[in-house]
Amino acid sequence: MITCDILIVGQGLTGSLLAWHLQQAGLNVIVVDPGETNASQVAAGLVTPITGRRWVLTEAIEEYWPTAKAFYRHLEQLWDTRFWHERPTLRIYRSETERELARRRARHPGYRAYLGEEVAPGKAGFGLADPFGSRWLTRTAHLATTALLAAVRRWLQRNHRLHQSRLLPEDLALQGGKVRWGDFQADIAIFCEGWQVVHNPWFGSLPWQPSRGQILTLECRPPPPAFPVNGGIWLLPEGENQVRIGATYRWDHLTPAPDARDSEELLRKFASLFHQPPEYQILKETAGIRPNTLDHHPIVGPHPRFPQLFVCNGMGSKAALYAPLVCQQLCDHLLHRTPLPARIHLRRYHDRLLD
Ligand SMILES: Cc1cc2nc3c(=O)[nH]c(=O)nc-3n(C[C@H](O)[C@H](O)[C@H](O)COP(=O)(O)OP(=O)(O)OC[C@H]3O[C@@H](n4cnc5c(N)ncnc54)[C@H](O)[C@@H]3O)c2cc1C
Repeated sequence: MITCDILIVGQGLTGSLLAWHLQQAGLNVIVVDPGETNASQVAAGLVTPITGRRWVLTEAIEEYWPTAKAFYRHLEQLWDTRFWHERPTLRIYRSETERELARRRARHPGYRAYLGEEVAPGKAGFGLADPFGSRWLTRTAHLATTALLAAVRRWLQRNHRLHQSRLLPEDLALQGGKVRWGDFQADIAIFCEGWQVVHNPWFGSLPWQPSRGQILTLECRPPPPAFPVNGGIWLLPEGENQVRIGATYRWDHLTPAPDARDSEELLRKFASLFHQPPEYQILKETAGIRPNTLDHHPIVGPHPRFPQLFVCNGMGSKAALYAPLVCQQLCDHLLHRTPLPARIHLRRYHDRLLD
């Protein structure tokens, strides 16, 4: 029998960061993951505090942003690898109404740190079509998720903390307030299964709203803008002539395989960003499924009937921004009984688990 304090199910961004926090806090963790491609590896890892047509600033950004930046920077130093790439994004206005809204937001003290200069129509450069102008989003970044996950995986393997397998719920026994799975016994299990939580017998009835997303990698000539652009879709330059564009949202077709309809949609939107679209060649098509939730906040906490079972999931489209703080908060809760913030606590949906 192999005993540990915590069994983590899933090594996406959530399970990885949680394992790191818990292990650093002195707990003994085992992570179970089948090693298949997951949403975290597919994600662009964009960190954009102001999002949506209404230019809304992410709730609790003053906690999320510094925690994420400090956490990824810390891992960069430790592993001598660059994960966090911070640079401004140019957001193209798509109407006069949007421009007026952004101007109002820019006058709001809470938004000032995140909104930069407005750029006049026709001045964005790189052949971008900007009839209403554009504005710099100053605090934006992207996280190299694939490199980060690979680094965490190596760290787990070096420490014999990773078990490559899929945990079948029927094989998990709840005994004497603990959990037992095969040869492993733990005080608690934390499910970080990404969108596959919908099949989880204990937490599957929570209001998950998984969405499929697709990204294309293109080589284009003339070269794409030298900075990230957001205008209906986002565009992330990678090297001299390469660019990633994304991402689609679909709620009807939950398979992680790339789809021709999504590629067409992305290419159409890409072309509409320019006066004269660059010539391109598709280098790669990737797709994955995001674990979105009904209220757009993560869902974290113990099951109301089985206190040895926890969920930590629902990072949605903001995993790179949310995961460092949310995993830290769950770690503090487990070690010091620090209350979980109400906005992420599973308690808000207890009725769905107690019916
Ligand atoms: C196209 C696309 C673009 C995106 N862009 C961004 C972006 O720009 N910025 C951003 O922040 N987020 C983005 N996201 C969202 C982000 O990728 C997800 O929110 C995040 O990766 C979820 O991480 P996770 O660890 O919860 O889930 P996942 O990454 O899906 O990992 C879950 C893991 O659990 C494992 N697992 C599941 N069931 C079991 C089981 N029974 N036993 C063992 N293991 C199991 C899976 O195999 C998987 O490895 C994007 C997603 C997609 C698809």
